[in-house]
Amino acid sequence: MRKIFIQPSSCIEAMLVDYHIHTYLCGHAKGDPLDYAKEAEKKGISEIGFSDHIMVDKWRPEYAMRIDQIEDYVKLVEKVEKESSIPIKLGAEIDYFLGKEEDIRKIIEEFPFDYVIGSVHFLDDWVIDDPRYIDGYHKRDINEVYRQYFLLVSKMASSKLFDVVGHLDLVKKFGFKPTVDITPEITFVIEKIKKNNLCVEINTSGLEKPAREVYPGQMILKMCWKERIPVTLGSDSHKPWEVGRHFDVALRMMKKIGYNEIATFTKRNPKIVDL
Ligand SMILES: [Zn+2]
Ligand SMILES: [Zn+2]
Repeated sequence: MRKIFIQPSSCIEAMLVDYHIHTYLCGHAKGDPLDYAKEAEKKGISEIGFSDHIMVDKWRPEYAMRIDQIEDYVKLVEKVEKESSIPIKLGAEIDYFLGKEEDIRKIIEEFPFDYVIGSVHFLDDWVIDDPRYIDGYHKRDINEVYRQYFLLVSKMASSKLFDVVGHLDLVKKFGFKPTVDITPEITFVIEKIKKNNLCVEINTSGLEKPAREVYPGQMILKMCWKERIPVTLGSDSHKPWEVGRHFDVALRMMKKIGYNEIATFTKRNPKIVDL
């Protein structure tokens, strides 16, 4: 335990990790990966993990590294680990596509990941979190979008491919809200997460998006806590200075709900540590 300063206004005692960090290889993150590690150290974060985008389908150069670049990615993270003064984990954020489970499995087995985050960014061919395609929300029934999204997340949880569920309620990113109660759909997802021993990421990037909330929001996080689903922390950094962003907000929410521990990972084995 050591005293850390997340923001000038807040001082919290905690052992912290930031497990959602990208690199320039994905085509939309900036900066030297070592600078992300330096930023973490500056903010009192004990350990970080890179979790760059990997897509086995619907690939575009502005979304993810190519499959043949994964080897370079692993070497890059190993290089940062050698040069950094804090431990660096090798993670990945892999898009879940229904029917592509075997392709995903092969990649996960081929590389020495410490953890793998599963994320849903696509509903069919529509990218739900790319501002260029925000009109997709206007063209569709929002309630149906939410139902489809959470159904896909539940299938991802049941696929047994991943360690961590990435930004669990990303569908809220642009502030479109369902007009019906979607608690049953969320309950179903949480059941699958629990049954498959997954961990849920508390992703602070949503605070800077129109949703103005962490992913997942308080209601869903409370449901996770009721099931004692472990959580981890991630900033979804695409620039060095974003590392650890808004962790004070996330920690306050977590502790209020009851979470005093987070999950860390080594070679895909979770370890629960005190916050
Ligand atoms: Zn990204
Ligand atoms: Zn993502």
